[in-house]
Amino acid sequence: MKPSRVSSRVQALKPSETLALGARARELRAQGHSVISFAAGEPDFDTPEDVREAGVEAIRAGHTRYTAVAGVPELRAAISENLKRENGLDYGPAQIVVSNGAKHAIWNAFLTLLEPGDQVLCPVPYWVTFPELVRLVGGEPVLVPAKRGSMKIGPEELTRAITKRSKVLVLNSPNNPSGAVYTREELMQIGEIVRRHGLYVLSDEIYEQLVFGSARHVSIASIDPDLRDRTIVIGGVSKTWAMTGWRIGFAAAPRDLAEGMERLQGQSTSNPASVSQFAAIRAFTGPRDSVRAMRECFERRRDTVVKRLSGIRGVRLVPPEGAFYAFPDLSERIQAARNGVSDSAGLSDFLIDEARIVCVPGSAFGMEGHLRLSYAIADRDIEEGLNRLEAALDRM
Ligand code: PMP
Repeated sequence: MKPSRVSSRVQALKPSETLALGARARELRAQGHSVISFAAGEPDFDTPEDVREAGVEAIRAGHTRYTAVAGVPELRAAISENLKRENGLDYGPAQIVVSNGAKHAIWNAFLTLLEPGDQVLCPVPYWVTFPELVRLVGGEPVLVPAKRGSMKIGPEELTRAITKRSKVLVLNSPNNPSGAVYTREELMQIGEIVRRHGLYVLSDEIYEQLVFGSARHVSIASIDPDLRDRTIVIGGVSKTWAMTGWRIGFAAAPRDLAEGMERLQGQSTSNPASVSQFAAIRAFTGPRDSVRAMRECFERRRDTVVKRLSGIRGVRLVPPEGAFYAFPDLSERIQAARNGVSDSAGLSDFLIDEARIVCVPGSAFGMEGHLRLSYAIADRDIEEGLNRLEAALDRM
């Protein structure tokens, strides 16, 4: 057999299961099937009108050339002010690096922080990309199981996973896939362990505006200056302003790390798209009515999904408090299956084939027995999709 021309690092990458399932849904639709996809990783809304207009205006005004590598000064200043106002975070404009989406900002952060062999603590369930990127830059992801019956880790779980090689803890609150939101008290306890072991934190706060009920978003970096100096905060406009296609995310970091990420970006991708940067300035500085309306809509849908899923026999759910995902545990139903379904991937396949609904298997997020359902889809699709789910489980 011919040796592969693809480098071993890239060969080792898992294809993104979330993106692959989205593609499968589109394919089935193209064949004429009525498919309901709970696989979406993006809001089903359009970018707010004023933000789109700002993009158009940027083109007209000739903002079509290279910009400063880390973003135009107005955008870095707007992000800095926004972090201060919304989350009580003190990162000056020079500590902000704007990138091509939050995913790119995370990549920059890992490449800037990690030496080969460094361990990165990834709480389970994790967003699919974290362990893959850690491996790609030569680090070693170490999975930290959540507390029993919970979707979060505590100081005990964290302490148990720490070794001499541990360098970074990944936090992602509100969480993809579980919708879990860490409280200030929980973050203070985790922060204590972080400090004691001299760790850094990569805090992915891309869903910070999407929290429901009495839940509040807290950034671990806002707890005290010492934790801020150990933390890279990741954020962006993709989710809050329904701007996934514009590709604008950012990292806010201690000065030396921000400078490192800027240098890296200068030799790799240069500035993120100039037009998108101007649209993002409008997002951060403009009125928030549409953001509020989208948030309220997600909260209403969250309530529907929680109520419906909790009513299905053998389905257990830790109610999500943020983002736009539910992550129910169906292991009881999988164990009882008489049709050969034996894990979450098998269940996901069965639901696509038998019910034409697309859900992402928990195995993609390191948690067997679960399914991730995104409720960033129309209300009537949620209703119909959950009807199909319940009926299909009874045929299993
Ligand atoms: N972090 C998390 C936790 C996400 O869920 C996503 C989107 N799926 C991203 C980062 C990536 O965001 P962006 O589209 O801005 O790269």
